[in-house]
Amino acid sequence: MSDGHTQAAPPAREVGTTYHVTVDLRWVLRAKDREIRHMLVDAETGRNLTPEECRDLAIERLRQGFEVLPVCDHHDAKGRCLGHKPGEGGVKP
Ligand SMILES: [Zn+2]
Repeated sequence: MSDGHTQAAPPAREVGTTYHVTVDLRWVLRAKDREIRHMLVDAETGRNLTPEECRDLAIERLRQGFEVLPVCDHHDAKGRCLGHKPGEGGVKP
């Protein structure tokens, strides 16, 4: 039973959750070469993906049901980042 009193919530933190910015996959397919030439980097080699490789990746992710490029390990079914609390995985320093 409630006694009519509620516990005061702790003050909301102004900073804390990080959200990754991502990119619309259909935009990638419409973009000019110069707009996506420096968009993606191969994490292993450090090489920029070519515009053709960016478009191939976008097509592949669209086929997988994504609308935006998933850029971390905590995203919804469309690829959008769901946010990360400090210290959680998926956030690069
Ligand atoms: Zn994220």
